[in-house]
Amino acid sequence: NRLNQHARERLSALLDGFELQGGTPLSNWIDGTACPGEGETITLIDPATGEALLDYRDAGPALVERAVAAASRAQQAWMALTASERGRRMNAAVRSLEGHEEALAQLESVVAGKPIRDCRGEVGKVREMFEYYAGWCDKQHGEVIPVPTSHLNYVRHVPYGVVGQITPWNAPMFTCAWQLAPAIAAGNGVVLKPSELTPFTSVVIARLLEQGGLPKGLVNIVNGLGPSTGAALTGNEGISKLVFVGSPQSGRLIAEAGARRLVPSVLELGGKSANIVFADASLDAAVAGAQAAIFAAAGQSCVAGSRLLVQREVFAEVTERLARAAAGIEVGLPGDEATRMGPLQNARQYAHVTRMIEDAVAAGARVIVGGSRPAGLPEEARGYFLAPTVLVDVAPEMEIAREEVFGPVLVAMPFDDEADAVRLANTTRFGLAGAVWTQDPARAHRVAAQLRAGTVWINGYKAISVMSPFGGFGDSGFGRSSGIDGLREYTLPQSVWVETASEASVAMGYGSGV
Ligand code: NAD
Repeated sequence: NRLNQHARERLSALLDGFELQGGTPLSNWIDGTACPGEGETITLIDPATGEALLDYRDAGPALVERAVAAASRAQQAWMALTASERGRRMNAAVRSLEGHEEALAQLESVVAGKPIRDCRGEVGKVREMFEYYAGWCDKQHGEVIPVPTSHLNYVRHVPYGVVGQITPWNAPMFTCAWQLAPAIAAGNGVVLKPSELTPFTSVVIARLLEQGGLPKGLVNIVNGLGPSTGAALTGNEGISKLVFVGSPQSGRLIAEAGARRLVPSVLELGGKSANIVFADASLDAAVAGAQAAIFAAAGQSCVAGSRLLVQREVFAEVTERLARAAAGIEVGLPGDEATRMGPLQNARQYAHVTRMIEDAVAAGARVIVGGSRPAGLPEEARGYFLAPTVLVDVAPEMEIAREEVFGPVLVAMPFDDEADAVRLANTTRFGLAGAVWTQDPARAHRVAAQLRAGTVWINGYKAISVMSPFGGFGDSGFGRSSGIDGLREYTLPQSVWVETASEASVAMGYGSGV
């Protein structure tokens, strides 16, 4: 189709620039080599036009096996280096992205359908994460435990060996670096499977990191579908830990696959985060915050503030102002500099989001802005566009108030007092994030402490840092990413005992001894 010719040519030129196209797209990075998949053909669809962009092939089990073997060999070479050398190599590795940032951002924008401005921000995060964890390489000392003087007991933090990582399509570069950096800083080799919908930027990152000084095979990327390549990875005997970022449905399958082999997992799953606005809040700030919380990335963000809880006396004012703000968001083609919100990423997601809106309306909810295709899009924007949408008259039991939409859809519900707000906020199985807007500092901390959520913001939304732990309560998953907690997910403590008594005697039974 002529309307999509431009996107196809752009993608082809970007892949050529990264030497990932030799007739067949080289969609895997295994043991220092870009190679094509060996399984079924996967067609990438342009989220902006809905037209086919490119075909590539699922990696399949044999390539996964090769990747795990390579990671295992490279991990030993990596651990043979000094800790300081590993840190230096990580810093040098991420500097090799310099000069490629714009092409990486463009590649992500075309395939993921994300606004180019957002993609540039994501590339910046890759660097931050590697620099942060590079600093940890030579600071992961163990501890000495104050057992009686008859013994010396110390604890070492030992890498798992080879870690399997699986990431989603909504922030491919961010989630790739987010998990690669702590895994290798802790001394592991990695095989990472990105979403089949966004395969290439992780391959480029792995390749550049290796050009910058990481050992060949330390980071391997295999691309393909969940049930084939993903399942081959989670079931591989050489994998000692699984880290998954994605939906609760797939997260369960990953944890089950791990459990069958007694392999632990970290699950970073979805959310239904509550954004609580008290009547005493600065409403200007709260409306701006609520808008960014849900409409950034077209709502395709795990921490999206998808439930707006507003104190009843300001409910009408806040929702009216928000509807006006939502109607003014520049929705457009991902490659346009002016675009603030792009399309949904894929047809399945679009069908899911629009179906949820229709069902909510059928159940009595009312759309006050959006709900359909935005007006005024260019001719070629025939893909998965949905206008920023706000729904009111939503009951807490409705599906749209309980389940993750993962689209630009906000439900607004009134509450009466603080206890009511906390109760409503916590009526969900999810517990990823939430926010409180109020000018009463005591109330802000009191409410924050009662929210069952891994991240809480006060008078703000979406601040996150690689230095601070991130993760869920309940159906939002378990384990933590970022900071020292994220690093510790990638090592096991080993307790070492030394007899120091002049006449050591080994006691019988559990109750005796030290
Ligand atoms: P998804 O669960 O459909 O897919 C995620 C990954 O799992 C993909 O790589 C997919 O191929 C793989 N997969 C699917 N089935 C598999 C199987 N049986 N075995 C192995 N791998 C399998 O999720 P998605 O639609 O790509 O992403 C959206 C979801 O991710 C949302 O729920 C969102 O909230 C969540 N998310 C969470 C975080 C977080 O940090 N908590 C961050 C980003 C996205």
